Amino acid sequence: MTPYDQIFENNRRWAEEQLRADPEYFHRLSREQRPDFLYIGCSDSRVPANQIMGLAPGDVFVHRNVGNLVNNVDLNVMSVIFYGVRHLDVKHIIVCGHYGCGGVQAAMQPKDLGILNPWLRNIRDVYRMYKAELNAITDEAKRYDRLVELNVIEQSINIIKTAAVQKSYLKRGYPIVHSWVFDMNTGTLKDLKLDFKKTLETIQEVYDLTGESNQQEWPPDPLPRSK
Ligand code: ZN
Repeated sequence: MTPYDQIFENNRRWAEEQLRADPEYFHRLSREQRPDFLYIGCSDSRVPANQIMGLAPGDVFVHRNVGNLVNNVDLNVMSVIFYGVRHLDVKHIIVCGHYGCGGVQAAMQPKDLGILNPWLRNIRDVYRMYKAELNAITDEAKRYDRLVELNVIEQSINIIKTAAVQKSYLKRGYPIVHSWVFDMNTGTLKDLKLDFKKTLETIQEVYDLTGESNQQEWPPDPLPRSK
């Protein structure tokens, strides 16, 4: 059996096992999704969202891209955040980076990387913002690790800049944005303890999108939670 065909065999067995344990499993799963968590992580094959969080299908809404970036003109990630907050009512949004990230490492190199340039520039911008702190770290591996962390924090801040998150938090007290790093050497998640409330207040000095004229869009139109 080829590795490709093996996938369908794996799938058949998995579906059978689920049904054996719970005959109503897929019936319930297909009705709707109501995850409490939105996870934005790296596409790296070694960082599977559900597995590292110990969560089952239906528990976490997931978006992944190279370098776990939240770029304000990326319609993809912005749609995921909007849908997650306004229609799925997620309570927590997590940005999860990982040590040893190829995207972050590539961004640290002074090289023309073709079509990757505009994407990785988001990470190079993070380096520029924290240049003094990063350049003070003489150990290159430690500097790389720190850029992974700072990138996660800056992407979390980008989420806090969105109207969807600011308005929802003002009205309902959620979602809370978290910054995590996965260490694949130990399999553990590290919470960088982003102070969400304080960060939101600081952000709103410049990026406040919750004023009177912005309130008419609430509450959201009812959109289906499943396709
Ligand atoms: Zn990565």
